[in-house]
Formats: sequence, C-alpha cells, structure tokens
Amino acid sequence: MARRPVIAGNWKMHNLQQEAIDLTNGIMQAIREEEKSRLPEVIIAPTFTSLYAANKALKDCGCGKVRLAAQNCYFEEKGAFTGECSVQMLKDTGCEYIIIGHSERRQYFGETDEMVNKKAQAILQNGLIPIICCGESLEQREAGVTDYHIASQITKALRDISSSDAAKSIIAYEPIWAIGTGKTCDSKEANRVISMIRNVVKGLYDENTADSIRILYGGSVKPETIKEQMAQSDIDGALVGGASLKVDSFSQIIKGAM
Ligand code: PEP
Repeated sequence: MARRPVIAGNWKMHNLQQEAIDLTNGIMQAIREEEKSRLPEVIIAPTFTSLYAANKALKDCGCGKVRLAAQNCYFEEKGAFTGECSVQMLKDTGCEYIIIGHSERRQYFGETDEMVNKKAQAILQNGLIPIICCGESLEQREAGVTDYHIASQITKALRDISSSDAAKSIIAYEPIWAIGTGKTCDSKEANRVISMIRNVVKGLYDENTADSIRILYGGSVKPETIKEQMAQSDIDGALVGGASLKVDSFSQIIKGAM
C-alpha cells in the first residue's frame, strides 16, 4: 500500500507571532512551484500563541499545501483546567493534527501513557489526527529494552481505539538520545524499529491497519539525512525539530522527501 509521506515541523517553544508568520510564508514560498501531488503532506506545529497567526498566514496564501498542528492538548472538552487547551479549541484555531506524547512532555510535564491514550481518543473523536510520539532513552537502548519499551508505549497509546481510527493516525518514532543532539539514529536501525512498531499495530489490529498507519522518524533529521531515511521501506516521513525552524533546511527536507 502506498502511504503518503509526511514531513512535520515541531517548532517547540519558539517563534513569536510575527516570526511564525514569516516562517510560514517562507516555507510556502519555498514550495510554491512544487506540484501538490508530488509534495509530502507538510505540517507545521507552532506553539499555542502562534497558531492563530500561522493559520491566518496559511489561509491568506490559499495554496492549501501546508497543514497546521498543535504540540499538545488536553483530553477534556471544557471546564476548570487552568492553562489547558481542548481539542475543540485547537480545531477552532485551524489545527488538523496534534502531537502527543513527545518525550519533552513526558519528561518535563509528566505526560503518561494513559494520558497519551486519552488525548489520542479525544483527538480522533473530534475528527483530528494524533501524531503519537514514542521512543527510548539511551539507558533503555543500552539495556536492550528498546523494542519492549516502544511496543508497550504504542499498545497503551492505542487502547480502545478502533482500527479505522488507528489506520489514520500517525506515529513518530523518536529515540530520545537523538532529539536535539545532532546524533541521528542509523537509518537501517530506525527502519528496523519502525517495522517492529508496524508489527505491533498488526498484532493489535490487522494487516490493513498496519499497512495504512504512517510511521515517521524523528531525531536530528537534517537535509543531509532525509534522502537515506526516506529510502527505507517503513519510514514514512519525519518529525523535525531544530531543522524546521529555518526556511532553508525545512524546505530542503520537504524536497528531499519527494
Ligand atoms: C523533535 O522535537 O521532535 C525533534 C525530533 O527534534 P530535533 O529534530 O531537533 O532532534
């Protein structure tokens, strides 16, 4: 089955509104001439306060080539949850995707597998697509428990989610030791882990779901690494942090995935 590649930029806690507008416009300018049918699905994930501005820039351009994601959400619809944003609120701001379970949220903000699962359910119930992050620490890799740990994260994240919802979800395999460190995971090893994840999905559902779900690699992806990563059998794209903050490097990564 042909899965459409995805290149998603996680801007983390960067970019004031004007910077978000400039970066959004810059990316759209850089891919303007590219045919929509050849482009991977391009997603940008600005911080909450820049979502409105980035969405407006996307709408003003009207080219429909770039989609909007949030970096987090809360699973309740509304209520006394100071500081949180519901899926509906993010949808209202133009988001079509939401990143959940990023290792920085797990590490600094106590996001658990159970919360990731509740968020995934809320996102899918509202017609949006979760980008579910998973990944092992260096200690876990050295202890030889990478596959066990990731299989457990994915199994818990997908609990009570139907096969049709799982099939449209996106998973991002992001080894923690590769995030923001400049150390990219060897492409063949990333592909091995990603095909293991696909096998876990097959075990939880069936072959069709496993063939449909898109699984990205994330961790110090750069213009120089993307071609080899995309050449692997099971890598469907990339979740990009640092290199998504510059028009040049992000557009080179997008073009490298075509
Ligand atoms: C990320 O934040 O998801 C990420 C992969 O960051 P970087 O590309 O900077 O390693």
